[in-house]
Amino acid sequence: MDTKTGLDLKYKNTPEYAKFLDENDPLKQFRDQFYIPMVNGKESVYFTGNSLGLEPKHTQEYVLNELEDWANYGVEGHFHARNPWVSYHELFPELLADITGGLPEEIVVMNQLTVNLHLLMISFYRPTKKRFKIICEAKAFPSDQYAIRSQVKIHGFDPDKTIIEVEPRPGEHTIRTKDILKTIKKHGKKTALVLFGGVNYYTGQVFDMETICKAAHEQGALCGFDLAHAAGNIKLNLHDWNIDFACWCSYKYLNSGPGGVAGAFVHKRHIADKNLNRLAGWWGHDKDNRFKMEKEFQPIPTAEGWQLSNAPVLSMSAHKASLDIFKQAGMENLVNKGKALSNYLLYVLDDINKRAPEKIIEIITPRNENERGCQVSMLMLKNGKEIFNALIKAGVIADWREPNVIRIAPVPLYNSFEDVYKFGEIISSVIQ
Ligand SMILES: *Cc1c(COP(=O)(O)O)cnc(C)c1O
Repeated sequence: MDTKTGLDLKYKNTPEYAKFLDENDPLKQFRDQFYIPMVNGKESVYFTGNSLGLEPKHTQEYVLNELEDWANYGVEGHFHARNPWVSYHELFPELLADITGGLPEEIVVMNQLTVNLHLLMISFYRPTKKRFKIICEAKAFPSDQYAIRSQVKIHGFDPDKTIIEVEPRPGEHTIRTKDILKTIKKHGKKTALVLFGGVNYYTGQVFDMETICKAAHEQGALCGFDLAHAAGNIKLNLHDWNIDFACWCSYKYLNSGPGGVAGAFVHKRHIADKNLNRLAGWWGHDKDNRFKMEKEFQPIPTAEGWQLSNAPVLSMSAHKASLDIFKQAGMENLVNKGKALSNYLLYVLDDINKRAPEKIIEIITPRNENERGCQVSMLMLKNGKEIFNALIKAGVIADWREPNVIRIAPVPLYNSFEDVYKFGEIISSVIQ
């Protein structure tokens, strides 16, 4: 019996059981608030919310409101729009505090993810001759690798001697926390920054951010996280964990549309520090004097001080539409349902393996539910491409990564237990 839901969790791989789980799902009504893409005239099984989250039905209304206000007011919309554009970005910190565990003054919505990573590294990667190394995960998302290498080069260091990557042990897929801590200790005095993903995009492994950050601080290094696959997916406590900085995008689990505006977090102990290097722009300047166009930059003493440009309101309106749904659903409920969905998915996949003549799927995502979010990555040991093509043909939208990995993300706002059951059924039918 699950104490949170009161459900009998003796899972069964049957349509009736999946239906039973759906009927008892406290978030079941949210699926109706999203457009589910159609394939061959039927609702698809959409399992790529970790890549591009689906569109909430009310997003068009939010965006159209801004277009309407622009039509009606022109430039005056900065002050007279229903949500005045001059302060539009101020709508977000409160909404994102719940999702990230940051304080409102530590959060700002701006730019794109990789841009924010660069802006934050300008402030928090300050290498010296003695302390210059960056410790990160091996096989980080390519954009992060490019960003890190280019930052290292800007400071005149050699990336190959500066960036220390922590890898999984031979034969393993995920990185042991123990190995991360050992690496931090080993390079400690020479390490300027420890920079990890919150959730690895390939394996779905959740890193122990609090422990990693503590170890970095013990060595006198700073610690930041790319939360692209963590924001809106897992429980985050950025402030309490003492994370120095973090950034995320809004178009994956946060459902805010392709290329949507991104977010950034800077810990309270840094936000008012005028000695930090930063790239400056007028939207980060003291609000009372912004239009005086003074020569000397006076940063706003919150995360807003990292803003460069005025707010991209159209993209932000889609972000607002989505975050209003997160607020209704509640982050804790979402995390619980996310775990329930992926637990059920793992059960279904184990059942398929058990019934197959030989094991065909190796799960490379951690089994421990505290070390994963919504994503389950399946290393296909046999007929991988064939199974993937059958899934696509049957209306599943999923993600294939060379050489042999299918990434699946059943997300709590719009995926159902029935989606998970159907997915398993299709794989079973290919094997037989
Ligand atoms: C999705 C993703 C990105 C994409 O970066 P953009 O700047 O939003 O294009 C970068 N890093 C990670 C870890 C990601 O998962």
